[in-house]
Amino acid sequence: MTPNQAFYRLSREERLEQLLDRHLLTKEQADCLLAGKTLPLSAVDTMIENAIGIFGLPFGLAQHFTINDHSLWIPMVVEEPSVIAAASNGAKRVARSGGFHISHTERIMLGHITFNQLSDPETFSEQVSQHKADLLQLAASAHPSIVSRGGGPIDLFVKPFPNFTSVYLTVDTKEAMGANMINTMLEALKEPLAELAHQQPLMAILSNLPTESIATAQCTLLPETIKTSKMSGTLVAERIALATDYANVDPYRAATHNKGVMNGTDPVVIATGNDWRAVEAAVHSYASRDGHYQSITQWEMTPEGNLKGQLTAPLPIGSVGGTSRVNPLAKLSLDLLQQPSAKDLAGIMAAVGLAQNLSALRALVTTGIQAGHMALQYKSLAHSVGAVGQEIDIISRQLKKEKIANQVVAKALLLRLREKN
Ligand code: NDP
Repeated sequence: MTPNQAFYRLSREERLEQLLDRHLLTKEQADCLLAGKTLPLSAVDTMIENAIGIFGLPFGLAQHFTINDHSLWIPMVVEEPSVIAAASNGAKRVARSGGFHISHTERIMLGHITFNQLSDPETFSEQVSQHKADLLQLAASAHPSIVSRGGGPIDLFVKPFPNFTSVYLTVDTKEAMGANMINTMLEALKEPLAELAHQQPLMAILSNLPTESIATAQCTLLPETIKTSKMSGTLVAERIALATDYANVDPYRAATHNKGVMNGTDPVVIATGNDWRAVEAAVHSYASRDGHYQSITQWEMTPEGNLKGQLTAPLPIGSVGGTSRVNPLAKLSLDLLQQPSAKDLAGIMAAVGLAQNLSALRALVTTGIQAGHMALQYKSLAHSVGAVGQEIDIISRQLKKEKIANQVVAKALLLRLREKN
């Protein structure tokens, strides 16, 4: 291995050696990765019901991220080829223009206790206001440890809907995502609220749309960092800005645009042991908050002629809790990210989504998405027909030259290669 050899050209063993040299992994963690030892089988039965085994997914690292002036290697768990390469590529371009800047609002999660067809919703609302302090105290006493950590219930208010009345509880969940703790508090409020309402509630549950917990990642690119051999950087930048304008008027495009963003964000959510369904629900409901599904990123030209990108979305994750307690790779991922706070972790996830979006849009508005996308698909295709070792590279190079690349063609190429040797 030469010192400046690109990380992606190294063997898996060499990559782990590099991480050890940089003190990003412990020897024990590197050995576990090398041996393919991930989640212990003993943990599986404590996590889900009816477990029969462990389902594997590739675990990789995106490079070149500069976030709030810190260099980071980003752990990503993802099965789709090209995602890590695209994230790294986008991050490299952003790093040449100063890197990402991340920020976060307060992290306030919320949940609701909902009643149907209250006979007197106005009186109920007044009574809830009168008893607010006691109800907040009751919620706090249902999960006292979060209060001793400096968090806990913040506010309680009534929201009327046609045929329904909900009592909303907002909670500072500190470093946790907070679903379990909020659900515990809501359950504790059910009975006293039922007494005030003179009926049992329909349900009590966390909301996956935490609009008071918003992560932001921003970057500003100099045009020369995104030029192609055939297009000036300014033209590419203008076309990327137009691409978000279009996503904001056509939900069919916005869905694909946001899926591309989540190609970056979800793998970090998974790698850190967080609940990706919760994050997906939050992002897509936030994207429709004005009643019209839109892009969660915005790219625009600055007066100086640079390209400014921003991702703003709720990313309900935790730096503690979830499966990070039982999954050693989730712990390893948090170590690689240098044990970020929940706010910083959400910001990092936003930055990775923005990097991914930049790469996808740059490809889309210039050469098209397939050129870059297919390189690893060819490798997967070669592997799927039984190619091993060096055969995979040879077959994938040959597939690239074929007019049609499918399993039949890949099988024929493999047969021919083996006959030759
Ligand atoms: P957990 O219950 O897994 O963990 C949170 C716990 O971590 C806290 O209750 C707290 O317990 C402990 N903790 C340790 N340090 C801190 C700290 N600094 N700040 C805050 N808490 C700390 O997780 P959550 O309550 O966060 O819920 C997330 C889980 O709930 C996910 O696994 C998710 O899949 C699941 N879930 C999601 C739902 C949804 O999204 N709709 C619904 C239901 C469940 P202590 O203080 O006692 O040590």
